[in-house]
Amino acid sequence: MYKCFLLVLLMSFGLHAQQDTVDFLAMEAVIEPIKETKMVLGTVRVSFETLRATDSVYLDAQNFQVLESAMESVTVSTASDKIWLTGKFQPHKKYTAFFTYQAVPKQSLYFSSDQIWTQGQGKYTSHWLPSVDSMTDKIEFDISVLAPKEKSVIANGNLLSVTETKGKNLWKFDMKHPMSSYLVALAIGDFNYRQIHSGSGIPIQLYYESADSLKAEPTYRYTREIIDFFEKKIGVAYPWQVYKQVPIRDFLYAGMENTTCTFFSAAFVVDSIGFADRNYVNVNAHELAHQWFGNLITETEEVHHWLHEGFATYYALLAEKELFGDDYFYWKLYNTAEQLKNSSDQGKGERLLDAKASSLTYYEKGAWALHILKEKIGDEAFRNAIKSYLNKFAFQNVTTEDFLVAVEHETAIDLSEWKENWLEQTAFKAEEAYQSLMRSQFIQRYLETATFRSVPLTEKKLRLKKAIVANNDFIGQEAIYQLAGEPFEEVRELYEVALGTQNIFIRQAIALSLDPIPESFQSQYAALLSDPSYLTQEAALYNLWVNFPEKRKMYLDQMEGVVGFQNMNIRLLWLSLTLYTDEYLIPEKAGYSNELQNYTSPQYSYEIREKAFEYLYSMNLFTDRVLENLVNACSHHYWRFRDAARKVLDEYLKDDLHEKRLKELMGQLGEIEKQYLQHKYNWQ
Ligand SMILES: [Zn+2]
Repeated sequence: MYKCFLLVLLMSFGLHAQQDTVDFLAMEAVIEPIKETKMVLGTVRVSFETLRATDSVYLDAQNFQVLESAMESVTVSTASDKIWLTGKFQPHKKYTAFFTYQAVPKQSLYFSSDQIWTQGQGKYTSHWLPSVDSMTDKIEFDISVLAPKEKSVIANGNLLSVTETKGKNLWKFDMKHPMSSYLVALAIGDFNYRQIHSGSGIPIQLYYESADSLKAEPTYRYTREIIDFFEKKIGVAYPWQVYKQVPIRDFLYAGMENTTCTFFSAAFVVDSIGFADRNYVNVNAHELAHQWFGNLITETEEVHHWLHEGFATYYALLAEKELFGDDYFYWKLYNTAEQLKNSSDQGKGERLLDAKASSLTYYEKGAWALHILKEKIGDEAFRNAIKSYLNKFAFQNVTTEDFLVAVEHETAIDLSEWKENWLEQTAFKAEEAYQSLMRSQFIQRYLETATFRSVPLTEKKLRLKKAIVANNDFIGQEAIYQLAGEPFEEVRELYEVALGTQNIFIRQAIALSLDPIPESFQSQYAALLSDPSYLTQEAALYNLWVNFPEKRKMYLDQMEGVVGFQNMNIRLLWLSLTLYTDEYLIPEKAGYSNELQNYTSPQYSYEIREKAFEYLYSMNLFTDRVLENLVNACSHHYWRFRDAARKVLDEYLKDDLHEKRLKELMGQLGEIEKQYLQHKYNWQ
């Protein structure tokens, strides 16, 4: 999984005792999610082997109702969180159970506007499919999905067939190997896909929504390069028969590595301009790396979670190093070292082997532990250790000890200090990390430039100029940020040199930090509106609009029709600014206001809605429709958006007149919205 660890610090895992009487082997399931009732109908055929004599085994299943079962030797019954299979089971014998069920999933399967999709990790597949919450019983899942004819379906494994059944289409998928239940997934939506192949011949299916066909190439850029790089670098072939990637609207995380079918946030769908600032490459590589680290070999329990996330993070970094070069690699390592050091300095450092550690620890400290280990033992020993570790435990579960044994087999170097420092310590070993970073000449030059921050301008001007002329993305940005607040005429030449580099990141630093914009620099600055970066364009448009009231209309005209990222950052800003621009006529403004309000409705992704609510709230433009949409957002499945909406509504209702108004509106609201208000505010 890939989470933004600044936002999600703790991940809730439950503890699951493994049943020691049974090994579930294979499951064939037909799933029919019903949008209207948010219910799932299912048919399951599950085979298992008993490890010793017993009269009952169970599958995890949250609030399921078994409708029918038909097997002579096995009786099927439900409890609140289980489905029991009972019979006179002999030791080491294989049995099969068959049953149909219905369930109303509270989590883990989501019905959002025109997509239906699942998220197993942290949410438990057992809310929609009888399965095993513990990671240690791996099952070969063959999923079939019954969906409306006009929709496409994606699930784990190869698509065998699509046949018409009951007026719907039945999509039949086949897995060849077992996996833990949290990796089972399905998605239903309006998707197309492009197929490419890895160098080794694995079919790779790149999904996109029909409207985004032109964004497929930039979104999935380097996918083939990444999989080829991993097969070579890891030394073990991609373990599954196919690989699909699917953008999910309103997804809960950045990405999720379901076996053979990664789901990722549609916010990463970009055109070639968006690619510069917000591309999918890192998440793409991270989820792909999990197909080995997490899916092929799986931790036995949470205390070893870094075996998934530290490895996926580190291999994604290696892929980026291959694609974008050493500077980029060290820049990212430098940034995570800073975060880890800050957290550690505040006494918040965590052991890597801590079942309750934060994402920052599992992901970034885990990656650092591997980086230091690789430097210590050398590339060849590292690669050999990884290779034998993966081969030995393929389709099984692992502990940190299993990894260490594999490493120790490949090297004579004593690892006890590394273990102590990187696995056991709560503190981040900043000095050791710093020594490693200083192997990069780029980091040396960057840190040298950063030391000028406290130096008076006259003493550093020449050196900053040199830093800008060198045209390095990160060092150039650092130099530009140091110019902010200096008397403009003293630094004009440096800004001009910076614009002249044509480096979009150095130029972006100007858009983000030069304030106010001097009159005499206006036309040079305005050229930033045409830079191939939506971040730059957004900042430049806003700053020009604020600084030069007489030219507002001119700049807005220039940017009309530009949408920006998937969150429509530029269009939403543009609409908001027109409402405060005198030259637009009242009917035009009414149209723009209407469009902006429309973006708060549930048919749009939460990233768009969130920004639209912000703009409308700050402009005091909460019409009835916006208010209805805000109440709707208060019950959204994505907690961060839901909480933000709830806060805005609380704030809004502090005014008695607003409260009166919403109470009058209540009659027109949908059931979910009404229930939220009744429950939250005790309204009738
Ligand atoms: Zn991950």
